[in-house]
Amino acid sequence: MSLKNNKVAVIGAGITGLTTAYELQKKGIKADIFERRSEPGGAVRSFKNGEWHYEYGPNTLLLKDKKVENFLYDLGLKKEIREANPDARKRFIVKDGNLVPLESSPVKFFTTPLLSAKAKLRLFAEPFVGRSNDDRQSVADFFEKRFGRELLDYAINPFVAGIYAGRPENLSAKYAFPALKELEEENGSVIAGALSRAFRNRKSEDKVKRRLISFKDGLTQLPEQIIKKLDNEIISEEVLVIRREITGWHIETESGKNGPYEKVILTVPLYKWTRDLVPANEQQLNRIKEVDHPPLSIIQLGFEKESIEHPLDGFGFLIPEVENRKILGGLFTSTLFENRAPENHHLLTIFTGGGRQPELAELQGDEMLNLVMDELKELLGVKADPVFKDHIYWPDSIPQYGLKHKELLDIFDEIEENNPGIYLAGNFRGGISVPDCIKNSIDLGKKLADELQQQA
Ligand SMILES: Cc1cc2nc3c(=O)[nH]c(=O)nc-3n(C[C@H](O)[C@H](O)[C@H](O)COP(=O)(O)OP(=O)(O)OC[C@H]3O[C@@H](n4cnc5c(N)ncnc54)[C@H](O)[C@@H]3O)c2cc1C
Repeated sequence: MSLKNNKVAVIGAGITGLTTAYELQKKGIKADIFERRSEPGGAVRSFKNGEWHYEYGPNTLLLKDKKVENFLYDLGLKKEIREANPDARKRFIVKDGNLVPLESSPVKFFTTPLLSAKAKLRLFAEPFVGRSNDDRQSVADFFEKRFGRELLDYAINPFVAGIYAGRPENLSAKYAFPALKELEEENGSVIAGALSRAFRNRKSEDKVKRRLISFKDGLTQLPEQIIKKLDNEIISEEVLVIRREITGWHIETESGKNGPYEKVILTVPLYKWTRDLVPANEQQLNRIKEVDHPPLSIIQLGFEKESIEHPLDGFGFLIPEVENRKILGGLFTSTLFENRAPENHHLLTIFTGGGRQPELAELQGDEMLNLVMDELKELLGVKADPVFKDHIYWPDSIPQYGLKHKELLDIFDEIEENNPGIYLAGNFRGGISVPDCIKNSIDLGKKLADELQQQA
């Protein structure tokens, strides 16, 4: 058991809290880590059900930064990494009810039947489209202006559903896709900027070859390994109150009061913020409560191989909103990684709901199963009932970086400035992906360690 007498407290043992605590420990600073759930890891968690093996939240990590790769290697996870099947480079998009491959190679992209000749030609006009300085420009507006409506409908809309469970109309281009917006700002063109960046990245020491990965036993190995490396045990208690007193910050849980702490890192999701937990004023909290986290259902379905006509030779499929279907798309999970299904079986991971059709995420039991099966029969040629099923429900999935995201970032800054010692970190700030959370937490851990060491 932790002695609960450290100078730093971390609230929440998701990937953000764990990575920050681990970075601090590397600098000789131990933190008390509080987690309300008995299984740490937050959204990152894997399930084993007989020979069926699947994820609770994220399914893959896109490794492209040296910093994140070094972090995984430093944890001793190098040998545990499993790269996605090369077939995963192929992603299918549904068009007119058929799965059309969208290949990542630019040459193959120009031969895809997904976009009309007119839409492909439109891409050549992109460098001549003027840049927008509007902080509140939506992802939809950004892509429609630069690349045309067809690309927005058949490429961007489904990808936004796949990454954010959201809709491009509701997301900020600048904050949801900062790299693309930067290319526009720096080069006046996304395409020209991407080409020049690809050339520079080849020489950049910060970047590594892009790899889509998981671990031998699933993503859960990441939080588990960090926990193994931490000297302190996690305190399995929900933090109810964080309050400043003369001696420092104090933390109250059901079992009592802890502290004083010099620094408290709060990694609790925004929808759980309360007046007791965050030293914010009512107006700030009301604004934070407006952030949308669309509900999402994840349906895991196992089939005998012979009961699916489609070869499932790719990452999975995404469905554009204009196709008017009842699911968002799915992953070919047993194609992506080995050992996810028993021999001669396939595991599919299907998503419903999100910002597009939030009401469908709420369906339960046979109603949900029938809805999904009707779609899979038409799209993948599924001919028999599943031999395995599970349903994971996310009432609040991913924070949407909405059109007023900048206001929110200003509020986080204000709270920190008005409350020295409080740090707000998590997927609501600086990127929602697991690698983004890791990168931001490494930086935060280093910054806090420097501050503490300067004070000493
Ligand atoms: C369905 C889904 C699919 C995703 N897919 C991908 C993907 O494929 N690839 C990818 O890179 N990213 C993906 N993401 C995003 C990524 O998984 C998350 O953004 C990231 O894991 C968030 O980590 P976090 O530590 O910031 O927050 P969380 O994981 O939410 O951790 C916060 C922790 O705080 C704890 N907590 C809350 N309140 C209290 C309290 N009062 N006291 C103590 N503890 C508390 C919670 O129990 C939780 O453990 C996905 C997310 C979801 C939801």
